[in-house]
Amino acid sequence: MTNPRRMRAVVSADSIAPATPALPWGPKAGVARDVAPRTLAGQTAQRLREDIIRNRLEPGERLTIQKLVQRYGVGTSPLREALFQLASDGLVRVEDHKGFVVAALSAGEMEDVSSLRAYLEINALRRSIEQGGEEWEAAVLTAAHRLAKADARLVGAKGGDLLAVTDEWETRHRAFHYALCSACGSPWLLHFFDALYDQLERYRRRLWRYEDRVVDAGNEHEQIKDAALARKGDAAVRLLSEHFRRQAVSATALASPAVGDADAGAAARRRR
Ligand SMILES: [Zn+2]
Repeated sequence: MTNPRRMRAVVSADSIAPATPALPWGPKAGVARDVAPRTLAGQTAQRLREDIIRNRLEPGERLTIQKLVQRYGVGTSPLREALFQLASDGLVRVEDHKGFVVAALSAGEMEDVSSLRAYLEINALRRSIEQGGEEWEAAVLTAAHRLAKADARLVGAKGGDLLAVTDEWETRHRAFHYALCSACGSPWLLHFFDALYDQLERYRRRLWRYEDRVVDAGNEHEQIKDAALARKGDAAVRLLSEHFRRQAVSATALASPAVGDADAGAAARRRR
């Protein structure tokens, strides 16, 4: 049986590949969001997930099978499977009389997910620093380098470019945080990493002006990377906690306790 303490991170390019191809237990963790799943239902779920996270489908929007068949060009069977898959991740809800709808947004949920993500990633980072080998160090270093490149491209990007570099930044940001966690030895933790990251990315894309945030975030990422690679566990955990706290503050400042304010943030974002 594989010893999870010997698991090694394999994070290449923009991929957020699993820490190991054969995880010893738990759900299939670390399935890269940018790698096409093999089944039609999996591919449909990936496209639907992306449309919800990137706000191409609105919170509360009804997802009728007929509409989705036209949108994605697939049959009802893989669609239903995809919808239930996303329902288990909390991006889709099944409501009486309405059927499937895109999950609503709320400031309360954002804070809940944000604090849970911080709790899990801090735990994972400490364990990765204790257990990670040279492959983990290389994965963190590579992911940090690629994220810094995306930071630079995002600053000053405009129009259509802004959307493309935002997509790139989110992919690389996910890969960096995943790399930090990837030697933690817990497939369950890595499974929840993905679900929680998806949720927060959805809020960020609705509320953030990325180009205003990435310079500060870039400095924070650099410091976390340096502390992690120097195996300074306490410092790395403190810096990561601060990173989450600042991210939560910047998002909360844009969203009031009302659900509607998240939508107001989106309207402001679209207007600029
Ligand atoms: Zn970050």
